[in-house]
Amino acid sequence: MELGGNSLPSGPDGVKRKVTYFYDAEIGNYYYGQGHPMKPHRIRMTHALLAHYGLLQHMSVMKPNPARDKDLSKFHADDYVNFLRSITPETQQDQLRQLKRFNVGEDCPVFDGLYSFCTAYAGGSVGGAVKLNHGQCDIAINWAGGLHHAKKCEASGFCYVNDIVLAILELLKVHERVLYVDIDIHHGDGVEEAFYTTDRVMTVSFHKFGDYFPGTGDLRDVGFGKGKYYSLNVPLDDGIDDESYQSLFKPIMGKVMEVYRPGAVVLQCGADSLSGDRLGCFNLSIKGHAECVRYMRSFNVPLLLLGGGGYTIRNVARCWCYETGVALGMELEDKMPQHEYFEYFGPDYNLHVAPSNMENKNSRQILEDIRAKLLDNLSKLQHAPSVQFQERPPDTELPEADEDREDADERWDPDNDVMDADDRAPTAGGVKREFVEPDSKDVDDMEEDERPRELDSMVTDTAGLKESNSAPVAVDEPSVKLEPGSSSKQPFDMPVDMNP
Ligand SMILES: [Zn+2]
Repeated sequence: MELGGNSLPSGPDGVKRKVTYFYDAEIGNYYYGQGHPMKPHRIRMTHALLAHYGLLQHMSVMKPNPARDKDLSKFHADDYVNFLRSITPETQQDQLRQLKRFNVGEDCPVFDGLYSFCTAYAGGSVGGAVKLNHGQCDIAINWAGGLHHAKKCEASGFCYVNDIVLAILELLKVHERVLYVDIDIHHGDGVEEAFYTTDRVMTVSFHKFGDYFPGTGDLRDVGFGKGKYYSLNVPLDDGIDDESYQSLFKPIMGKVMEVYRPGAVVLQCGADSLSGDRLGCFNLSIKGHAECVRYMRSFNVPLLLLGGGGYTIRNVARCWCYETGVALGMELEDKMPQHEYFEYFGPDYNLHVAPSNMENKNSRQILEDIRAKLLDNLSKLQHAPSVQFQERPPDTELPEADEDREDADERWDPDNDVMDADDRAPTAGGVKREFVEPDSKDVDDMEEDERPRELDSMVTDTAGLKESNSAPVAVDEPSVKLEPGSSSKQPFDMPVDMNP
């Protein structure tokens, strides 16, 4: 049952979309360190599968322009960006205070080329937003992006720079409302926090909740001030399967699309929600995961597809390859083509993997209650009115096709900087580390260190968005006019359990 999806003119998957795919051939060389579950190599494996399935010739393939300091500073604090640029494995011993301050060292280690890694993955996401803004594609893909935990001045959960927030800020130059959807198994906390007090971005995160990193994402966390009811959280339990997941995803996202009517959608496709993930505990098949992509695509709204988590890397590559096919409207053969990483996919060498027989701890009643509560929250929003646009801020420079890059000067104007507030709201509470259980399913070794970390503070400043005279959406908030710097601070109601 498709709720709210646009009917498409032809074929089981409708019309073809113009797709731009961002890939930096260096990305697979970055290495978080021995035993660390985050492996950028999975992006290269995905790319190899795309190449051998013959998908690259159906897309515009672009090498991202690295994001520059001032691009990153649209969201991140200058001293944090300076730190990321200057820190090296050799100098980190002299910077212990800074490491602690920026939460760099354990989950988020210093490694060779760290800053180039950050600017490459952020460059792809911002570049995708620029292409969408120009109407040069219908769907932009950056599997290296989606690092949703990064905060304004803090690394978190393997994420250093929040490419998603940066891409959304770019989309907001053209679109009055942007929708963010997150299907990673972890709560999309960094993105939610950045836009918690505005109605110009709606965030919807489906995640494991309860004794799980990062600890936020309660059903009752709905946004604050003008942003009230513009943050949606869908807390789930272990073992959720395709059918249970879609029994929430489609009705909720169908309703969101109906009432919010975003100008663009950003979908974070974290693959740690797949069955058999090294850090995850859900039981989704690749088809079940990809159904979210298929469904969001069906609305024919400019769509930015990003990666995210995913720690059983052969399945990550399978998933993002299949989802690239979905974006293109192409169904892929289950039997894999020969390619340089073929041996990872034995013994079956198929694209799809069967989910397990693990227990689904999400009862029908609980799912029904969650769905009812969220649909009720959505009913508190009026239908989005038509909006009038005002002058649009300059674009971030456009990426050029592959070799053909030029150094344009027209990055966005700092005077139009939409991120401004610098308030920090101290919050009692704590989070556990993301990097926890070594999994016997995976041959890679892992440290068993799972010491809880203290979270000094949660930065809950608003994206002090550009003034706008249009588009009131919330019933109780008649205006979206945002004063730069007027951040309403809403400390998160964070669980305080810090199980070691
Ligand atoms: Zn994750």
